[in-house]
Amino acid sequence: MRLVEEEREKYLRAGEAARCALSRALDMVEEGASLYRVAEELEGVIAKCGASPAFPVNISINSVAAHYSPGVGDQSVIPRGAVVKVDVGAHVDGCIADTALTISLDPRREPLVEAAKRALRAALAALKPGVELSEVGASVESAVRAAGFKPISNLSGHLMDKYTLHAGKHVPNVRSEPCGKALVGEVYAVEPFVTDGAGYVVEAEGGTIYRLIGTRSVGDAALDSAIKGLWSKYRGLPFSERWVFSEGGERALSLLKELVRLRRVYVYPPLVEAGGGFVAQFEDTVLLLPDRALNTTRVLELLKK
Ligand code: MN
Ligand code: MN
Repeated sequence: MRLVEEEREKYLRAGEAARCALSRALDMVEEGASLYRVAEELEGVIAKCGASPAFPVNISINSVAAHYSPGVGDQSVIPRGAVVKVDVGAHVDGCIADTALTISLDPRREPLVEAAKRALRAALAALKPGVELSEVGASVESAVRAAGFKPISNLSGHLMDKYTLHAGKHVPNVRSEPCGKALVGEVYAVEPFVTDGAGYVVEAEGGTIYRLIGTRSVGDAALDSAIKGLWSKYRGLPFSERWVFSEGGERALSLLKELVRLRRVYVYPPLVEAGGGFVAQFEDTVLLLPDRALNTTRVLELLKK
């Protein structure tokens, strides 16, 4: 059995910090709000709660499903009637909580949001130690289709490990081939995405979220020192160009771009619904204990307050 039992307290603290950030998001997300300010504020909340961001706050609007985070100098604001996904991550010593919610500023999108909530409930009900993960996908797909929408087939939940967001196994959001069993001691993020569009996402241009791929020397003192700095701060977790800029200014940013060019740093492309549909998402983090599944983020309870 893995370390999840010993580290339960750290996972719970990370979960509380991420929940606090989402709770703040519920107050801040409104028409005209600056994405930059919302992201910085929520990352600040995570830090105040004694955790660190496990990745930059994602604020994905309308047909953008995931992986949009405001970059350096981002001037964008939340548009009128938007469907806003806020996805936050917190970690304590590498023990991660990954959680997300959707806020619709247009009542016409409420059925989509409700379908995404129902999908998360279905996923949480299905995810237990010993379950074949494809069965979770089947439950999600049934719930979403029954509500008249489509699950996004090429986005999935994921096993997490210390300092590792995507640790191999996937939790599909559609009926699929067998993809392995959930085991006691594992930690999963479950995150159904629901759309009125084509049902899959494609990659878009631009990207402000980065991840160090390896720590091997590139044979250049400045770049090697940049790699060392990124590793000591973020290990293998995603980070924002805002964070790099605020610590090291233009110089650090240009070293980062060079590391991207050398393929030592990966850039996450924003993921956009292929048919231009609206997308809603809810996400929780679950520890699989011997006797039960422990939800550390309980995002749907936040909405009742
Ligand atoms: Mn997430
Ligand atoms: Mn996730």
